[in-house]
Amino acid sequence: MKALALDGVGGLEHLALHDLPRPELDDPGDALVRVHAAALNRLDLFVTDGLPGVEYRFPHIVGSDGAGVVEAVGREVTAVRPGDRVMINPGTSCGRCRACLAGEESLCRTFRVIGEHRSGTAAEYVVVPAVNLAAVPPAMPWAQAAAFSLATLTAWHMLVTRAALRPGETVLIWGIGGGVALAALQVARQLGARVIVTSGTDAKLDTARRLGADAGINHGTQDAVAEVRRLTDRRGADVVVDSIGQARWQDSLRAMRRGGRLVICGATTGPMIELDLRRLFWHQWSILGATLGSRREYQAIVALAHEGKLWPVVDSTVPLDRATEAFARLDRGEQTGKLVIEVAP
Ligand SMILES: [Zn+2]
Repeated sequence: MKALALDGVGGLEHLALHDLPRPELDDPGDALVRVHAAALNRLDLFVTDGLPGVEYRFPHIVGSDGAGVVEAVGREVTAVRPGDRVMINPGTSCGRCRACLAGEESLCRTFRVIGEHRSGTAAEYVVVPAVNLAAVPPAMPWAQAAAFSLATLTAWHMLVTRAALRPGETVLIWGIGGGVALAALQVARQLGARVIVTSGTDAKLDTARRLGADAGINHGTQDAVAEVRRLTDRRGADVVVDSIGQARWQDSLRAMRRGGRLVICGATTGPMIELDLRRLFWHQWSILGATLGSRREYQAIVALAHEGKLWPVVDSTVPLDRATEAFARLDRGEQTGKLVIEVAP
């Protein structure tokens, strides 16, 4: 089968189309999926660069997000059948430990991500645990089905579970072009929150306003913190959503109200920050980390997708043999929404 795979880590030059054997079903709980589309995440660039503590077997097939048709299932699988149109929840867990039994799979000690710790979705076939599959809404095209899971689940886990965002609260979302940021905008709107977004590109702010953002700030030309203060009667945002990390850390704190919550799912500009603990306790801030989400949360977002809500924004689609162009676009930060790889029409 054709697959987009790394022959080593350290940069995009290691990524190429390979001819690899079709994966076999060996676990009785697994399913073989014929992939129609895969979607990129910032994580794919981190995998390409090489992540500390993750051992790869090369060639390593990339891609955490995907959607397709079930081709075959292991003997214990009853929830899906060959022929089903499915999308893939990228997080896998043991299913037996205390965290898993409590329904908090992303806290499982053996929590793993498809495409990071095991073979990914950017291939004609992928084998995944059948419990990671969900039915694609009948009207949803393959591109959006592929783009749905990782970003929407992360945004849901950040705002609903970790930050407990309430109707009428104000949320600030940095860098609105990215998949998680756009999903967070949609989730926040579903919850009845007021949304302020930022970008360095006016066109991305226009898109965000069309999707329901109440205010857009160009953080390249405007003082973002002063604007947030102005828009909140000097109070600051109730919740701040950040995947940027180091470069916006101080601004995130300054833009947040006393008692506010800062929820973080990434660190694209760098992982190390400084924190004055006196400010933390005096302002009674909550600083929250978030990684993907649980099966129950995934079921919740899938149900909303079936109601026509939370459909992801797709920036562009490229065929599998031109997938490295999508990686380059992601690397340059040009996208507004998800970058999709069409594997089969
Ligand atoms: Zn577990």
